[in-house]
Amino acid sequence: MKVWLITGASSGFGRAIAEAALEAGDTVVAAARRPEALDDLVAAYPGRVNAVRLDVTDQARISAVVAEAVLWHGRIDVLVNNAGRGLVGAVEETGDRELRDLMDLHFFGPAALTRAVLPHMRRQGSGAVVQMSSMGGRFSFAGVGGYSATKFALEGLSEALAAEVAPFGIKVLVVEPGAFRTAFAGERALLQSAALPEYEASVGPLRSDLPGSDGKQPGDPAKAAAAIIRALDAAETPLRLPLGNDAADAVAASLEGARAEFAAWEDVARGTDF
Ligand code: NDP
Repeated sequence: MKVWLITGASSGFGRAIAEAALEAGDTVVAAARRPEALDDLVAAYPGRVNAVRLDVTDQARISAVVAEAVLWHGRIDVLVNNAGRGLVGAVEETGDRELRDLMDLHFFGPAALTRAVLPHMRRQGSGAVVQMSSMGGRFSFAGVGGYSATKFALEGLSEALAAEVAPFGIKVLVVEPGAFRTAFAGERALLQSAALPEYEASVGPLRSDLPGSDGKQPGDPAKAAAAIIRALDAAETPLRLPLGNDAADAVAASLEGARAEFAAWEDVARGTDF
């Protein structure tokens, strides 16, 4: 029986992962800004779900939630840094406040949660940290520079983290979903920077296409949750796991593009030593 701590558990991936863990017989500390949204899960799995209030941008509350989880259950086996939201805007359209707020949500919050659980996982000699990144955390495209920057930051931190904590028996899994049917693209969640007419051609279509995809995305969050559990249970857990055919196609194209660009400029790269 594992103990999970999942952020953003009220909706989408967070909720799907919580449900899959509970179905498997595990215990879940489900953290949400609106814990009342988890009342049905608490009722359905008596004694196995703690719904706790947590805004992941509130660093003081992060320490308290981790301490409570350990007090209640004596351990934390899996931390899922899932809470997040989308932001559409050209780099020139995206303000400093918007960038800093999203870094708080996608980077500083997950970093603080990771720091808070690691002493317990090291003591246990086991554990896993799941970072919900995005295919936009592997590569980027016009209109998502700010969003990608926050996910790239999380991925960079996590790649180093994986090497540092492997000797303690702790796994790190970075998940890179494509478009999944969650509340992500809905009006309540998706952020949009103020538009400049100059970027109508490059970013304009995304401003309407992304909200237009709401409820029609190909990805099934329940299947994503099952894939995450399968990867965590594997003897060789991957560092990065793209999810969805769109993500698989785009990550493959990005890898091939990077390889081709490197090959085209390899001579120049190698020609700069003293
Ligand atoms: P949802 O909007 O369905 O869920 C997002 C969750 O994050 C909600 O529970 C929301 O809570 C929570 N949240 C937002 N801000 C905060 C905060 N400050 N503190 C605590 N919780 C917060 O979207 P998804 O399930 O899709 O998103 C989960 C993760 O998946 C995100 O990190 C996102 O970037 C990533 N992702 C999603 C993709 C998709 O297509 N769906 C694609 C790639 C990545 P509340 O209900 O209170 O708003």
